Amino acid sequence: MYKIVTYPNPILRKKSEEIAGITEDIKRFVSDMARMMYKYDGIGLAAPQIGVNKRVIVIDPGKGLLKMINPRILERNGKPVEDEEGCLSLPGVYVNVARPVESIVVSAIDVNGEERVWKGSGLFARVVQHEIDHLDGRLIIDYADRNKMSKQSLAQLSKLEKDYA
Ligand code: ZN
Repeated sequence: MYKIVTYPNPILRKKSEEIAGITEDIKRFVSDMARMMYKYDGIGLAAPQIGVNKRVIVIDPGKGLLKMINPRILERNGKPVEDEEGCLSLPGVYVNVARPVESIVVSAIDVNGEERVWKGSGLFARVVQHEIDHLDGRLIIDYADRNKMSKQSLAQLSKLEKDYA
């Protein structure tokens, strides 16, 4: 039913809208997102990546599934640390992205409509920031210095552009 939207589809560049209230449709949609994330072996997925410009992310950086509606980063601590990131919307493209990962605090609505706050570090902090970037139309390649990208990633990037055109 859903398909992964890949770069350079303009859907990925739009700012996503907040969810106004939790309905059965929204709950079903969030479950569908989780299913898609696991199907494609992702550790995070944002709604625009399956073509829906709504502020919803699902993540599972190894400690179980978290569903976040209207997520907001309240706190970000530490110096930016570079690490290689990939993205289901940029298959075959890997770039170093510097993000603060010492700790972050994120608040969101859960599928029961409750406001919740999560604190985490490392991969959790990285994935949450990566996925919230999607909700604001930002992609990992926006952080990349093209001169420092690998030949393979650059070639894959032009292939994606050519395939889309
Ligand atoms: Zn991504």
